[in-house]
Amino acid sequence: MKQLTVYAVALSVSLIFAGTAASAEQTVIPNGSRPSKTASSSQFTGNVRHEPVFPATEEAPFSVSYVTFEPGARTFWHTHPAGQRLIVVSGQGLTGTWDGKIVTINPGDAIWCPPDIKHWHGATSTSAMTHIAITGMKDGKNVTWLEAVTDEQYQAK
Ligand code: MN
Repeated sequence: MKQLTVYAVALSVSLIFAGTAASAEQTVIPNGSRPSKTASSSQFTGNVRHEPVFPATEEAPFSVSYVTFEPGARTFWHTHPAGQRLIVVSGQGLTGTWDGKIVTINPGDAIWCPPDIKHWHGATSTSAMTHIAITGMKDGKNVTWLEAVTDEQYQAK
């Protein structure tokens, strides 16, 4: 039995190395080759900058980007069909859900938003906020945009 376990471990280790050897080589996407853009006013309130890092691919079906919100800026209400992970990089922000809950988020905080939860995220009214967004893709779609977050909803915290 012990010998069988050792064999199983050896086999799985060799499979890991086989997988590594079969992979294509690393790619460096140079800084400056992914133009940053002003986020659309039909999806965001206030001044928001979007900096793409990785597009979703078949083998890694999620996109990665930096999003920077000026004070008072926020997304519209939206949902993600495959969920979204946020990592706050700088400043201070807020994220709210349709149940009325609003949470303050700070650098280093990591937020998991499950699929189809209606929510928004953005800066506080006095601080800018930058987060990394890792957004899952399902059936070629990563977000469904809804209506704007009103000032009353934004200030409900
Ligand atoms: Mn989101």
